Amino acid sequence: MRHPYFNGPPTPEDFQRQLQELMRHQFSGSQGMAFAQPAAADTAGTSSAEPPPSDFKFDFKPRDVKAYLDRFVIRQDEAKKVLSVALCDHYHHVQLALKGKDQPNYAKQNVILLGPTGVGKTYLIRRMADLIDVPFVKADATKFSETGYVGGDVEDLVRDLLRRANGDVTRAQYGIIYIDEIDKIASANNASGRDVSGRGVQTNLLKLMEETDVPARAPNDLAGQIQAMMEMAQGGGRKAPSSINTKHILFIVSGAFDGLDKLIRRRVNTATIGFAARTPEPNAEGDLFDHAQTKDFLEYGFEPEFIGRLPVRVVCRLLNVADLFNILKTSEGSIIRQYEESFGAYGIEVLFRDDGLRRIAELAAEEQTGARGLMTVCERVFREFKFELPSRPLKRFVVSRAVVDQPAVELAKLLAEEASEQRQVACQVVQEFADRFQQSHGLRLQFTDAAKDRLVALAAAASTTVRELCAVRFKDYQFGLKLIAQNTGQTEFTIEEAAVENPDQSLSDWVVASYRGNEPRPPTA
Ligand code: ADP
Repeated sequence: MRHPYFNGPPTPEDFQRQLQELMRHQFSGSQGMAFAQPAAADTAGTSSAEPPPSDFKFDFKPRDVKAYLDRFVIRQDEAKKVLSVALCDHYHHVQLALKGKDQPNYAKQNVILLGPTGVGKTYLIRRMADLIDVPFVKADATKFSETGYVGGDVEDLVRDLLRRANGDVTRAQYGIIYIDEIDKIASANNASGRDVSGRGVQTNLLKLMEETDVPARAPNDLAGQIQAMMEMAQGGGRKAPSSINTKHILFIVSGAFDGLDKLIRRRVNTATIGFAARTPEPNAEGDLFDHAQTKDFLEYGFEPEFIGRLPVRVVCRLLNVADLFNILKTSEGSIIRQYEESFGAYGIEVLFRDDGLRRIAELAAEEQTGARGLMTVCERVFREFKFELPSRPLKRFVVSRAVVDQPAVELAKLLAEEASEQRQVACQVVQEFADRFQQSHGLRLQFTDAAKDRLVALAAAASTTVRELCAVRFKDYQFGLKLIAQNTGQTEFTIEEAAVENPDQSLSDWVVASYRGNEPRPPTA
């Protein structure tokens, strides 16, 4: 018999038994509790206890979808059109299927998106999923491995979808799964030693794209199993939904497809020799991608079945400076809104001038990371502003070309201007104190510039106002100065820095001097 402590790790059966004991103890009221069954036994379809089907309603037309995307995504018009059509086709079909009117021969409109980084591929899909309110999951193909043990299991994507759908299996079953960097699992890349299991991952993904039932809990996910058991215990032994069918999940894959352009160019050129330039000579990479054919993808390293399951091909273009400017200026998701909000949280108003936006766009284009460059540039430009301004009295500033080019210099100028404005106000406050003093006591105080600066500095250091500081520092001055006035007839007094520093000492020196007649007296204006 196995020793309970020293005989190696428990077998899964031991473990299951022990956990059941524990759960029985925790939820002693519930009877007949059982572990969620492992994957193999679990794929027979959803149980009758699953959440009620969500009432999915889809009545968009491709033009509506494109109009919505236009609010956020700049350029990529062809991509927006093709995606809108594919989306509408897919979800009209889903709607029929949910009513039990599935068309058996329907070919799913899975999409392959080609285009460089940061040009809006993810953004397009995310916004579409938002518009029609379906769960959405994004992952990089590079994280998957053939066996699923090292990287991740492609089936986890489906389980993530269920999580996004808050456990609603029906909703998860018509969600969108978006897989980026799909080009990295092309098996021709094996030559470069990048991924030896690309072909295997393609096969696993193919299964999902065709149709399969994915267990709602990963068989090796202990936490998931325990949670299932707890849910069952709390639900009076009701069995949680057990699997998700992938038939109506929309798959969208994307990648930059480095090198595919060369394959296409070669094919196009060869064809041109035979058939007098049937295909126009494309220049940019994006134009070449427009001519991509299945055979190019096969040569690139994809399995024919895999590419066959991705009938919709969409190309996203590189963004130029004007596009980047428009993204900043007109996209509803523009990053400058984010900056307006984060400065706004401190009551600071920021105004982006067009020359500033254009300069941000120019610098971002140099980054060659598409619209992502905008974030990089903005982060660099506003770093110091975000740190300094919230603790300053300054309440508004303008983003000009100069600010974008030399943020540190412009911030220093702004703060210097602010300091000089502050000083002007503070000086007026000191003058006002002197005027009131004269009104009340008939004696005139003349503060030197150095004295005023000193008052401003002391007030800032003590976190008090200049007005308050004057009142405290010179609170007994009328008595002493009146004595001096009696002794000498003097009614105007110059207040220097020393008097600001040591008001009582200065006053008593002056009073003493006034009794001695012509000894040192308070300096007069
Ligand atoms: P990728 O093409 O690599 O998937 P993303 O869609 O993730 O790039 O783009 C990153 C961010 O850049 C988006 O969240 C969005 O804010 C912005 N962006 C990218 N392209 C566009 C575009 N064409 N129009 C508006 N914003 C865009």
